[in-house]
Amino acid sequence: MKQAKQQGQAQYDVLKGAIKGQVCTRFPPEPSGYLHIGHIKASVLNYRYSKMYEGKMLVRFDDTNPSKEKAEYQDAILEDLKTLQIEWANLSHSSDYFDLAEEKARFLIKKGLAYCDNTDKETMKKERFDGIESVNRNKSVEENLENFDLMLNGKTFDYCLRAKIDMKAKNKCMRDPVLYRTNQTPHHRTGTKYKAYPTYDFVCPILDSVEGVTHAMRTNEYSDRIEQYQWVQKALELRPVEIYEFSRLNFVNTCLSKRKLQEFVDQKVVEGWQDPRFPTLRGIIRRGITVETLHDFMLEQGPSKNANLQTWDKLWAINFTKIDPIAPRYTAVGKEGISILTISNYQDQGVNVVTVPQHPKNNELGTRPLFRSSQLYLEAQDAKDIKVDEKITLMKWGNVKITEKKEVDGQILLTGENLPDDKDFKTTNKYTWLAKDTPIVNVDLVEYDHLIKVKTIEEHHKFEDYYNPNSKYVTEALADAGIKTLQVGSVLQFERRGFFRIDKIIGDKYELIYIPDGKTKAASIQ
Ligand code: ATP
Ligand code: MG
Ligand code: MG
Repeated sequence: MKQAKQQGQAQYDVLKGAIKGQVCTRFPPEPSGYLHIGHIKASVLNYRYSKMYEGKMLVRFDDTNPSKEKAEYQDAILEDLKTLQIEWANLSHSSDYFDLAEEKARFLIKKGLAYCDNTDKETMKKERFDGIESVNRNKSVEENLENFDLMLNGKTFDYCLRAKIDMKAKNKCMRDPVLYRTNQTPHHRTGTKYKAYPTYDFVCPILDSVEGVTHAMRTNEYSDRIEQYQWVQKALELRPVEIYEFSRLNFVNTCLSKRKLQEFVDQKVVEGWQDPRFPTLRGIIRRGITVETLHDFMLEQGPSKNANLQTWDKLWAINFTKIDPIAPRYTAVGKEGISILTISNYQDQGVNVVTVPQHPKNNELGTRPLFRSSQLYLEAQDAKDIKVDEKITLMKWGNVKITEKKEVDGQILLTGENLPDDKDFKTTNKYTWLAKDTPIVNVDLVEYDHLIKVKTIEEHHKFEDYYNPNSKYVTEALADAGIKTLQVGSVLQFERRGFFRIDKIIGDKYELIYIPDGKTKAASIQ
């Protein structure tokens, strides 16, 4: 069992009463932001579990609150699902069913199971807490139908519609929850046609049943709303839907609140929702996470209901196992204080280009040319470490005996003699290098630290308390021009520096983002 779970194979008994070929799940995003790592868990589990039973998954936009929703977000969410290789059997919107929701609301009013209430917000909250019934609770069906019409026609904005359940219920969610509320903001799809909207808690159980969902998967922080969900289906005489709960995903040093993420965007301290420091799918893809990693990680989380605070390192460690076998190897040397090693006997070598494998273990990646010359660029720190008379190994070339070391204007200049017949690489230090006056490109290597400096954001924290203003580090470097064969989105390894993803190509300049491996800290962030 444990082993199967580790391999990301959820068990066949995870969905109660599931019948192969008949399972239908759904992912109900609210189009009020971009998909983040939490939504990735919900969408991946819904999708993969439906497939596990050879069933299907629906996507339904939960667009019941026009004040927060935008078409821009909706388009982005669909694009993101495609990126995640998640397919849906049908796409719908809660707003497609506003007429149905009205009909169902009237049905409840007529059955004496719902009433219109104009109690002010504060009083309603207090009454709900104290278990006190509203003065409007026992109004006649006729009066309630009249008031509901006024709500729908925009003739009143004081009323809401409430379910008539039990104001003394132990589960406070059952103390006459709101089913419909007015809103004057135009809706991003239905414009000003409707002046009142069903709540998510009302419309969701209706649509799950009507759309043929067999298993509604939800995060378990809303466990106490399950009773309400089931009440709605029963009161409306609808087919009951099985609820499957999983835990809400949280990460250290990470904010998953759309409202707070929007604040970062508005303050212009990030590039937007796709900022590589953001926990959005777009952000972490730019950081170099693979879709396969995300699926594996989420399946591993699977049906666990424990509240969990995950570390990013765990995710990056899985990612490392995906990219290490396929990332071609190149060299980059930092520009600051860049050092030069002159090979005194270079003329005798007679070779200025050799062919090397793209990957030490994966032959499928093929080979690339590697240029040599009499002068080589070395990392400033490497040059500092190298001593006169020391024998070093230049990776992919051979051994060199250092004969001279001097410093001119802060730059270390080394001279050495290549030892082509010396094949003893066991006792030497290995260094990366780039040959001067051969094809080289300018690169910016970008490393990111957490945008949020606290482990978890607390209620009392203000923006300044958790925002880390120093979270981006750029190193200018020179790199093997072989990377020009790669595109934006390609992942590579700069040997001894780590993995990077090509993020942008601007003219002749390449911008690459460092991909954490779950073990080493980024060079700049020690
Ligand atoms: P919620 O509805 O929980 O407030 P949200 O408003 O951030 O989440 P929605 O667009 O409503 O975002 O969420 C879409 C789906 O993703 C819902 O089923 C929701 O439960 C799920 N989801 C959101 N955040 C997380 C999370 N951190 N971990 C797991 N699932 C999540
Ligand atoms: Mg929400
Ligand atoms: Mg929601």
